[in-house]
Amino acid sequence: MLISGATHVCGIFGYPVEHSFSPVMHNAAFSFLGLDFVYVPYCVAPEELENAAKAVISLGIAGVNITIPHKEKVCRYIDQLTPGAKIAGAVNTIVNKKGKLYGHNTDGAGLLRSLKEEADFLPAGKTVLILGAGGAARSIAVELAMSGALLITIANRKPERAVELAHLLTGQTPVKKADTVHWTTPEFKESVKRADLIIQATPLGMYPNAETCLDFPFEYLQPGQVICDLVYNPPITKFLKNASLTEGVKVTNGIGMLLYQGVLAFEHWTGVQAPVEIMLKSLQEFLAAQVY
Ligand code: NAP
Repeated sequence: MLISGATHVCGIFGYPVEHSFSPVMHNAAFSFLGLDFVYVPYCVAPEELENAAKAVISLGIAGVNITIPHKEKVCRYIDQLTPGAKIAGAVNTIVNKKGKLYGHNTDGAGLLRSLKEEADFLPAGKTVLILGAGGAARSIAVELAMSGALLITIANRKPERAVELAHLLTGQTPVKKADTVHWTTPEFKESVKRADLIIQATPLGMYPNAETCLDFPFEYLQPGQVICDLVYNPPITKFLKNASLTEGVKVTNGIGMLLYQGVLAFEHWTGVQAPVEIMLKSLQEFLAAQVY
């Protein structure tokens, strides 16, 4: 790749950032399409976030992804947020348009796109159970609510965070109903039985703790349900392994969310349709090279 004075720069701000899969995925896509773009990881300490956001404008960076721990705090440095990013209070993609910063949240939309592609799942009128109430759960819950989900139930280790997310959904989105359940109660089993989609949104099962798994009543799963674990390293977590023992359930991992949040960001920055297959291949190769 030849970098010249005309090359458009994109990147990712995180802390730490060196383990990010995004540079591999985006650079593979730029190179495949012959676009004069490059994607660079930037390790941005929390106290430098404001300066880094300003530098997007002063250095003429075309756009950046935002990852942990900056997704919430960065909102205050952005000129205009999409409705979903505003409700979730989190941004993972910034677009620099003529010196104005636009903040998107493609995490939730990325997951929905992957569920459509991989499991033929559309959220309108559906019942969803989300396990976890952290940043990822929040972005996904908002996107599901804005896409017509009928009922969203949140189960979280700290119940107060689940309650806060359910309040956000009922207060600020068109969802018909959002409630909470604790995973040690009999009602939780009912929530498991009735859900069309169950999303595992905690880090349990993630490398290097691949042996860990949520204490979950797998025997209540039903044929036809879609079970998604946001973890992608390892690709098949203990949670997904256990879930797939129920005949007729569709299981998906977090690779699709990672892929499509990137696809959407790529299209915002370049205005060009992303080469999805190339991006997926680069992610799979990068993942296969990881030690787990
Ligand atoms: P986060 O904001 O730190 O939230 C973590 C969530 O997991 C909280 O709900 C927390 O519950 C819960 N949790 C943590 N440890 C737990 C344990 N030992 N037992 C039960 N619950 C536990 O993290 P996040 O950004 O939402 O990420 C969550 C997961 O999604 C991670 O595995 C991350 O890798 C994955 N993710 C994947 C993608 C993708 O593209 N595929 C994108 C983003 C995130 P409390 O509130 O009770 O602490």
